Amino acid sequence: MPTKSNKAVVKIIRPKPDVGIAPLVKDLLARLGEDPAREGLARTPDRVEQALQFLASGYRTDIAKLINNALYEVKYDEMVVVRDIEFFSLCEHHVLPFFGKMHVAYLPRNRVLGLSKIPRIVDAFARRLQIQERLTQQVAQTIQEAVEPVGVGVICEARHFCMMMRGVEKQHSGAMTSAMLGAFREKKKTRDEFLALVNHRGNGF
Ligand SMILES: [Zn+2]
Repeated sequence: MPTKSNKAVVKIIRPKPDVGIAPLVKDLLARLGEDPAREGLARTPDRVEQALQFLASGYRTDIAKLINNALYEVKYDEMVVVRDIEFFSLCEHHVLPFFGKMHVAYLPRNRVLGLSKIPRIVDAFARRLQIQERLTQQVAQTIQEAVEPVGVGVICEARHFCMMMRGVEKQHSGAMTSAMLGAFREKKKTRDEFLALVNHRGNGF
């Protein structure tokens, strides 16, 4: 009896390697018509598991912690723009990648967020199963709630593998989404300034 319970404890602390995503991938490979035992595929289930854990790591990001370390009270009321933030995400309908660039801006009200945190917020929401519309909204909403600025603008341009490799099979069509909050929604002047900064291609940018 004690042996049996010890075994159970060991099982909880160190799950057997065949518990997790890898065995599901092995099964998937077989169902696709492959031989999961052949040399080239032998370690594939483990690699897929690791890749998926990384691509879905946003579920484990503590966003409040990420932000609270980096809020600064500053007398600055001009637009802050971080442009061309690359991101890679997985569409929740096909679990295929979609990827592109995000442009994020806000108009501070005496409080700013450390600049490097903006790409981190993008990654935290991109590394999940997503749709582009929600990803764009979540980034805008998170900055709105943390910084309480006069407004937030987010533009997202992306290409979707589920459109490129299957379905309509269009290689060059991109999807654009935007989320405009506060002044970015209400004031054309603010929105135009943001769009001009996003479209401007200056030296080295
Ligand atoms: Zn899709």
